Amino acid sequence: MKTIEFPSGKQAFDSVLRQRPLAEQLFNELVELSRDPEGGVTRAPYSPEETRIHQRFGDIAETLGLVVTRDAMANTYMTLPGRDPAAKKILIGSHLDSVKQGGNFDGAAGVVAGLVACAALKELGIQPNCDISVMGVRAEESAWVGVSYIGSRGALGLLPDGAFDAKRSDSGMALADGIRAAGGDPDAAACKKTFEPSDLRCFLELHIEQGPLLDRDGLPVGIGTGIPGNFRFPEARVLGEYGHVGLLKDWRRDAVTAASEFVVAMDALWAEWESAGKPMACTIGEFTTNPELHAMTKVPGELRFTLDVRAYSSAHLQELETRTLAIIRSIEERRGVRFELGKTARAAVGEMAPEISGRFEAIARELAIPARRIGSPASHDAAAFAAAGVPTAMLFVSNANGSHNPAEAMTIDDFLQATAIMTAWLAETTR
Ligand SMILES: [Zn+2]
Repeated sequence: MKTIEFPSGKQAFDSVLRQRPLAEQLFNELVELSRDPEGGVTRAPYSPEETRIHQRFGDIAETLGLVVTRDAMANTYMTLPGRDPAAKKILIGSHLDSVKQGGNFDGAAGVVAGLVACAALKELGIQPNCDISVMGVRAEESAWVGVSYIGSRGALGLLPDGAFDAKRSDSGMALADGIRAAGGDPDAAACKKTFEPSDLRCFLELHIEQGPLLDRDGLPVGIGTGIPGNFRFPEARVLGEYGHVGLLKDWRRDAVTAASEFVVAMDALWAEWESAGKPMACTIGEFTTNPELHAMTKVPGELRFTLDVRAYSSAHLQELETRTLAIIRSIEERRGVRFELGKTARAAVGEMAPEISGRFEAIARELAIPARRIGSPASHDAAAFAAAGVPTAMLFVSNANGSHNPAEAMTIDDFLQATAIMTAWLAETTR
């Protein structure tokens, strides 16, 4: 009987380094197939560009000996079959869509990492004890459709009601039509999930870092401590009363000054939390008077704004929501305005599995790869799996210039080091 030799972490690392040409080829394909004439790359969710990449990555995965399948959400799975096909599978993945004129690494790096890891395991002659599937996730960037984690939550059967009718902000195309055009089946996806959380042993995601902390500290790799949950008001309004510029101060119900007080109060709340060592973030990304009614010599009676508040624990999120509503009530009482918050969107906090993250940290030490733990200020598909109860871990790769722009600056050296940590973990975990 043939005995299987299991490689050391060092052998896994060396094998990953030998996959450099594969990594470079995959990153080149991404640029070639989705270059935006106005700069960077653009792969909108369920666009022909996104579909082309799913197709091309699937073709390359087949040449590596992986088994390629797609689900009703048109997500792509590239699987290294395990010795026991009935065992819970390991899922590695990230998204293949991008923001408009984004960079080449956000999302895609996580899929390339999975393929490089599988190629390295194959080169080492490893047949894992369970399937290892690399998932090319559809439609993660919520800027396009306003629904978060479409591909991953769709696969888990956890999309919110009405998600399939949501429309793309640029083209107005309904999500269901996009899925159909990309070869998926929205009706099937709406009533049947691709897998149960209990079918999955874990979900691993490698992603470029968005804040430049790793670059500042000269570290190639970060090990994720958690993904923030959020609450959002996508269409909030402050309603006061339009008035003549001659109106005395006490008589005014000015929507702009009331909303401005809100902004300053939220910023002060963030400062208070920061000095208390409680991480959070607050973003008011849209803030605008009504151009049809506003004028230089008119007291503004209406202001529209968005709010995104995020934190790393559900208790913190709850406390922040209570504080936010209290700030609003106090402004309403003093300024004679009304806040109409509209619908509230929420995403759960993504807790990372400590046993996997702990091993990642130990492996990094063993392989002399400089790394430290970092929180992710941004949202990732991993949060959808974590919220569904799947043990989840993330690795971040240093990236100097922030993400979602053509200047994303991940080096292949750093990428291969992060991928080596993941691969060594896979090798030891699937003996
Ligand atoms: Zn991303």
